[in-house]
Amino acid sequence: MSALPQMGVYIHWPWCLSKCPYCDFNSFACDPDSLDQEAWRQALLAELDHCLSQTDRLRIGSVFFGGGTPSLMDPRTITALLERLAKRRTLSAKLEISLEANPGTLDTRRLDDLKLAGINRLSLGVQALDDGYLKLLGRRHTAKLALKAIGHIQKRFDRCSIDLIYGRPGQSLEAWQAELEQALGLGLGHYSLYQLTYDPATPLGQAAASGKVTALSSDEEAEFYTQTLAQMSTNGRSAYEISNFALPKQECRHNRDIWRGGAYLGIGPGAHGRELRQGQVYITECQPNPALWLRQVQDKGHGYKAAQFLLPGERAEELVLMGLRLAEGIDLDRFLQLSGFDLFEVIDPAACRRLVKDGFLAEKPGRLQVTDEGRLLLDSLTRVLLTGSP
Ligand code: SF4
Repeated sequence: MSALPQMGVYIHWPWCLSKCPYCDFNSFACDPDSLDQEAWRQALLAELDHCLSQTDRLRIGSVFFGGGTPSLMDPRTITALLERLAKRRTLSAKLEISLEANPGTLDTRRLDDLKLAGINRLSLGVQALDDGYLKLLGRRHTAKLALKAIGHIQKRFDRCSIDLIYGRPGQSLEAWQAELEQALGLGLGHYSLYQLTYDPATPLGQAAASGKVTALSSDEEAEFYTQTLAQMSTNGRSAYEISNFALPKQECRHNRDIWRGGAYLGIGPGAHGRELRQGQVYITECQPNPALWLRQVQDKGHGYKAAQFLLPGERAEELVLMGLRLAEGIDLDRFLQLSGFDLFEVIDPAACRRLVKDGFLAEKPGRLQVTDEGRLLLDSLTRVLLTGSP
């Protein structure tokens, strides 16, 4: 792991004002006034202390507050966590501190407090700029409110990203193109653009299964994605990852480093981590149920459900899966340093040659990358590479 000398910290806040019908994240509806913010602050601090006490002393390169809706978190909790980190580890001079937020949870005072607490990058869950679709997605805000929130963020933060969901039921390609044009007109440095998915465990997934809403066909999905890639690229935001588009140097460094195979701590209910302990990678997973997590941390000082050594072969496969998501692809030297394997011992060389010949992969000096054509079939490509079967 020495190829990435710094690590990230992911902090999960599981609470939202309501549960969106498409959401399969570890998130739960709550009345924020009923939360014991002090108890949550102490528990997150305790788990952070526990994780830091057993992981190698890498510099901290990024902190990411995700959720859920961490803009509902008391900003004093953010301050306390960042102060604790600064006390126990060296922080990168370019420390990136991101926070996910929802438009309905931000007023100018909250934004000022978040900035004062140390947040330097905001990621706003806009999801649509069309009120009809916002309603279908169960969002609590309107397009007007989202645009207003973006304006307030832009006045205070240099780095802002928005999430949008496309390929919604009944959405035409032309309508998405126009909506994306409007979003690009905001001039943001980063956009996360996801196709709507229908997890069977969610109300929207059940509506799709019963025929009440219709998901895109795979041909339509490909059309939407190709259009999105072209439009973003024309506007100078290249897809540095399958669903993430940014101006140069505006990438989310926290996520990019994870996709490169960097270590990170996972704090909070349901958080996952890749901890480095005496040079070995451990996969950690916290108890997902917020009440059980809180009680366990209060009893034991941590909310881990599992923490186990990641076998070298599993680690290598994970690096392939994550690395091919990035436009930069897999750096062969870094792969060797992180996994102990030459990439071509892990993937099938004959399958790789075939996929290069067919235009789905590209071999560049010191790297293996997926082409735009390959991105449409990424899951199948990685399966073929890792199993050798067509
Ligand atoms: S606000 Fe985000 S995390 Fe919360 S329920 Fe909706 S999609 Fe899920």
